[in-house]
Amino acid sequence: SELATMMDVGVNQVIASCMSLGLFVSINQRLDAETMSVVADEFGYKVEFVSADILEAIEEHEDLPDKVHPRAPIVTVMGHVDHGKTSLLDYVRSTNVIAGEAGGITQHIGAYHVTLEDGRHITFLDTPGHEAFTAMRARGAQVTDIAIIIVAADDDIMPQTKEAINHAQAAGVPIVFAINKIDKPGANPEKIKEGLANLNFLVEEWGGKYQSQDISAKNGTNVAELLEKVLLEAEMLELQANKDRRATGTIVESSLDRGRGYVATMLVQNGTLHQGDIVLAGQYYGHVKAMFNERNQRIQEAGPSEPVIILGLDGAPQAGDKFNVLENEREARVIANKREQLSREQGLRTQKHITLDEIGRRIAIGNFQELNLIVKGDVDGSIEALSDSLIKLSTEEIQVNVIHKAVGAISESDIMLATASDAIVIGFQVRPSLQARRLAEKEEVDIRLYSIIYDAINEIKSAMEGMLSPEI
Ligand code: GDP
Repeated sequence: SELATMMDVGVNQVIASCMSLGLFVSINQRLDAETMSVVADEFGYKVEFVSADILEAIEEHEDLPDKVHPRAPIVTVMGHVDHGKTSLLDYVRSTNVIAGEAGGITQHIGAYHVTLEDGRHITFLDTPGHEAFTAMRARGAQVTDIAIIIVAADDDIMPQTKEAINHAQAAGVPIVFAINKIDKPGANPEKIKEGLANLNFLVEEWGGKYQSQDISAKNGTNVAELLEKVLLEAEMLELQANKDRRATGTIVESSLDRGRGYVATMLVQNGTLHQGDIVLAGQYYGHVKAMFNERNQRIQEAGPSEPVIILGLDGAPQAGDKFNVLENEREARVIANKREQLSREQGLRTQKHITLDEIGRRIAIGNFQELNLIVKGDVDGSIEALSDSLIKLSTEEIQVNVIHKAVGAISESDIMLATASDAIVIGFQVRPSLQARRLAEKEEVDIRLYSIIYDAINEIKSAMEGMLSPEI
């Protein structure tokens, strides 16, 4: 009705237009943004969304090319459990790969920034693992520039190695491989490289495009060389930021400290954060009362790619929440309150994800080009066969991607990946764990279970053709 009024056409015309898209709507129904655009287009209007969502209402202007400078890469370490993530992060944190800083960094604040001997910088996210990485991404935060995938040379490419690779790839984050534990007697780095080649990740030494470095995280052997390769990868990304603007970035972690109040570790991604700034982070805001770096030194400002601890927020935002600096406190309070109200109304619901039933309609509207799937199954052979057939369903209009496939029950990490990549999860002869089911309900991720390959293929095919009969 509102849309009809704005366009000065009859409500019934708008309803009819929706019907032609296969949508049966009532007069006071809220239309989603895409539908609104298509309907308006039909009447010769273009929809412009003016701060449609207060969550996004904060000015995010583009930086002029002459204002930006290179910034340090932000790196996450991922890999199978016990392959050496923590050891690598600890080694880098505490040793003289880092210039001048006697004693290294002793505290864990969720991220740290190191300076190499030649003055270049790297920022590490200190919560290793792809779960943390994808959890942040599921909240809309794309923080990592480069992923180090660590594989122990005395072991094999393990399920979580593959999972980590898939999570990095789904995020479009370039990978550098670290083949660890080369000091161990049974270590066989070549076997790992062969395993990677079998997964279609050919490392440079083997004529491929992936950088890889044999290391010992325990002894520090070749860690400097690994960082060199990370920086090379970073150079190709041409990472840039403008330090002369108000800061924006992401919350890495936060907590309530008895003596100091709310403490948040934030990563500045653009601009410079100053003591005294008014920060809005998720549903909370406040003046930056004090700032500290990862060495627990008090600082006055923090620039792009620098992690800081700040005191002064009136609550603990979630990891992955974005932060902004605003001009005045009133504005920050209004937005924070509005966000709180919205999240209460929506019962903390974040975002609705694609479901199989919805695909036909989205295709009809014409803005659906990629169908992301996660395939879990009981045996490797059937997963491969099913994935291949699903990918072959791709048409000129819609690309079907299997962003992750693995043997095993549907896990929380699968659901997180689905949330972050807007994917549908397919279980073949396997079921979701209880936690996965709960998370899927909360995040509204569509899980489809099959026991016959043909049924799975047929149902996805029908959905893509818009033929799926709605579930009642
Ligand atoms: P994470 O689970 O991936 O964080 O792995 P950790 O860093 O906790 O390492 C698991 C175990 O492997 C620990 O006992 C480490 O001491 C050991 N480890 C890690 N890196 C190396 C290495 O380069 N050489 C040897 N010999 N042991 C290592």
